[in-house]
Amino acid sequence: MSQTFDLVIKGGEVILPSGRRRADVCVRNERIVAIVEPDVPLDARNTIDATGLHVLPGLWHVHVHFREPGHTYKEDFESGTRAAALGGIAFCLDMTNNDPHPTTRETFARKRDLVSGKALIDFGLYGGGLYPKTVADLASEGAIAIKVFNTRHVREVYPYISELGVVDHGILYEIFEAVSEQGLVCSVHHDDSEWCKRLTFRDYIDAGKTTVQDYFDCYAKGYMYGHGMGAGLAASLYYARLTRTPLHVLHLGVMPAEANELIRHAKRDLGQDVTAEMETAALFMTREQAETVGPNAYLWAYNPEAHWASVRDGTADMLVGEHAPHTFEETQPGWKDNFSVPLGITGAQEFIPLVLNAVNEGRLSLEDVARLCALAPAQRFGLHPRKGAIDVGADADFTIVDMAKENEFRKENMATRSGHTSWEGIRTRGMPVYTVVRGSIVMRNGEIVGRPGSGRFHAGKGAR
Ligand SMILES: [Zn+2]
Repeated sequence: MSQTFDLVIKGGEVILPSGRRRADVCVRNERIVAIVEPDVPLDARNTIDATGLHVLPGLWHVHVHFREPGHTYKEDFESGTRAAALGGIAFCLDMTNNDPHPTTRETFARKRDLVSGKALIDFGLYGGGLYPKTVADLASEGAIAIKVFNTRHVREVYPYISELGVVDHGILYEIFEAVSEQGLVCSVHHDDSEWCKRLTFRDYIDAGKTTVQDYFDCYAKGYMYGHGMGAGLAASLYYARLTRTPLHVLHLGVMPAEANELIRHAKRDLGQDVTAEMETAALFMTREQAETVGPNAYLWAYNPEAHWASVRDGTADMLVGEHAPHTFEETQPGWKDNFSVPLGITGAQEFIPLVLNAVNEGRLSLEDVARLCALAPAQRFGLHPRKGAIDVGADADFTIVDMAKENEFRKENMATRSGHTSWEGIRTRGMPVYTVVRGSIVMRNGEIVGRPGSGRFHAGKGAR
């Protein structure tokens, strides 16, 4: 082959849609142009020696809160995408609880233009579902999907901006109608906030039980982030079916396992167009670790086997590791009263190492990772076949991993502006060693080599 390629990834075990094999992957003009047998002489401007490594499609993270605009002291798009790239993420999808929140044409366009100069990896943006009448505007400005907070925090504490909460099912229904008309997906954080508030106050807050341990008990009991979310999901599935809305369920795994049954029923028995993302903290965050970091984790894995079953049987379509950072200082009063501090967790940099560790433990295969963390999200959010798989013609996005590399999460190694990690002290095996976005190396061996602004905004199909 005589042409010069921009980049060749040589000698790796490549995870292709058809299965894994040793191959060299050739890139020109930001796209994959050839996948060839190894050891064929190739002329390339840049080469990655992937001998002993696995080459996956660029992995996606579809649940990040990079806090820009409005709360950039917690995170901004540059620090957030830097953390993601270090964690092997090539594409992210950012949430909407910003100030101003991107719920109108103007505020969405403002956010898009503001963050576009800062991203190190490619990204999409949720449009904020609040006003049924602005959904068409958000679609035309490039929202990749619409996010609805069908919830309010029991004490109205950020990050649940009260005015963003759509707790009126009539409004939710009208948003579904509008989203369905645009051909987009509607992603919902479900809840029955009044139920959650009443039971949480009755048995915990009014009973003077507010410590972080009380909070974790309340969570496992199904009050905070509990059965109210399942009941909200039941209503939403019903209305989404009536309006023929493609529904994407957020926070599978955060909700009790009964919620998984609702999704299973909707998919299998009703054939409904519904997908769901599994929160991996619900698989990996032990009670011991949760009590170690206290108010820097909002959930723990009290029922992981039920959620693993949902990953195995397809109830969960994709994996996420929620990234919802707050500064260490603002969470610390939570040791005494965790119902009154902002709740969150970090995950942008930790998500893929935790998932690779699960591969090494035999819970998943790398083919599963390619499907759950690249193909399925790219398909659901409308960017496949451009992204989501290693295929000729696709964007040259790769996450190259060393399955033997060991790691320990320590706050001094994290790029998040929040200054801590919810996974402090956790050891994992299997690490991303290259993040490549459209043929450009963004991260190499734990060092960022890309520059802010090189990440590209990808519009949803309403803009095309
Ligand atoms: Zn979130």
